Amino acid sequence: MERETIFALATAPGRAGVAIVRVSGPAAAAAAREMSGELAAPRMLVVRRIMDGEELLDVGMVVWFAEGASYTGEEMVEFHLHGGRAVVARVLDALAGRSGFRAAAAGEFTRRALDAGRMDLTQVEGLADLIDAETEAQRKFALRVAGGALADAVKSMRDQAIRILALIEASIDFADEEDAPDDVSAEVAAGADALLGDLMRLTSVARAGERLREGYRVAIVGAPNVGKSSLLNAIAGREAAITSPIAGTTRDVIEVACEIEGLPVVFIDTAGLRETQDLVESEGVSRAREVSRAADLRIFLDAPDVSEAVDDDLQRTGDLSVWAKADLSSGPGDYAVSAKTYEGVPALLKGVADRLQPKAMGSMIASRQRQYQRLVGSGEDVKAAIGAQSMEIAAENIRLAVRQLDEIIGIVDVEDVLDEIFSRFCIGK
Ligand code: GDP
Repeated sequence: MERETIFALATAPGRAGVAIVRVSGPAAAAAAREMSGELAAPRMLVVRRIMDGEELLDVGMVVWFAEGASYTGEEMVEFHLHGGRAVVARVLDALAGRSGFRAAAAGEFTRRALDAGRMDLTQVEGLADLIDAETEAQRKFALRVAGGALADAVKSMRDQAIRILALIEASIDFADEEDAPDDVSAEVAAGADALLGDLMRLTSVARAGERLREGYRVAIVGAPNVGKSSLLNAIAGREAAITSPIAGTTRDVIEVACEIEGLPVVFIDTAGLRETQDLVESEGVSRAREVSRAADLRIFLDAPDVSEAVDDDLQRTGDLSVWAKADLSSGPGDYAVSAKTYEGVPALLKGVADRLQPKAMGSMIASRQRQYQRLVGSGEDVKAAIGAQSMEIAAENIRLAVRQLDEIIGIVDVEDVLDEIFSRFCIGK
């Protein structure tokens, strides 16, 4: 069956200066020819009257791409229209009326690019992240992945694994003969160790990369009334949490997402940590401890008018101690801030960014749970190969490791993963 030609509005819907309608498939250029006259050279944007039969729909620009030299790998056309709803609707209608044409599903252009081998799965994921990127660090990161940085790293590990496999197979063949070379098994062991090292490194940065997509979590910790909510509000620049002079008001966990020096950061206001008889509050306190523990960084507050101290079993190296309500009096700590006057808050934010920046920089490659799990799995297979009792079992484990790596790039069947990934894409991408 002939592949259908798909089309969609590629720019955001609504009123705009320009709207771009994309068409991809075997009948794309023919449609452009019929609707806008003779085509120019491929990739050349030209002004054309865009028609539906005798009716003029718009005067816009048209560009086409030949099969094998387009985003999807198929013949493609773009109509650059005036960005009015009626204009776009009418052009989409005209395309829908053509035989063999249908509206594209979310991410379908990219899916065709993947099918045509123009991208691998990690690049597709990187592209999805690029479209979702809201901060500078996210943009840089996604651009690297979309450009194939992760795919390259995975492919090089896959090559290592294949080399090890070849060595193992050679040694199995030799084993029948008298002089099975010991140096082959030494070479296998060294290769597997090196591969495991590379896998572990990539695995650890993959975990950190997840944070880059979802935001680094910074918990604001301290006794009740120390000024946690006020500080969060000062950071957020709005009334995100309710402040009150009565101790124990912040009973739930309140989060504010923001961008500091390009990094996505989620600040979390936790319930004041103290012993309490109040059931609701004590629930809040135990959640607060949990959240603080799981955070990437903690800001411990002390204030001149609060004598209660927080037990510091939550403290980790790199955490910040901050003297709050600095407008009242000065005191110890890495930073002094006043939520009231905003003094010291910018310096504190800079300090937070400085602490998080190294974590982010190391993580610029893998970020998805899916990628992380396959990397971990692959590492376990290599470990099993290293500890294997026989070369045959070692070979099987290495094969499994290769398969996991293949799944990251999407070389092997990953249909269910594809559905999941593409359902989140925009229409027209
Ligand atoms: P939390 O229980 O730790 O969240 O503390 P809150 O943010 O609710 O603050 C407790 C009390 O301290 C409130 O009455 C605030 O108005 C006051 N407070 C908080 N931050 C400051 C500050 O920077 N300066 C002054 N003078 N008072 C503050």
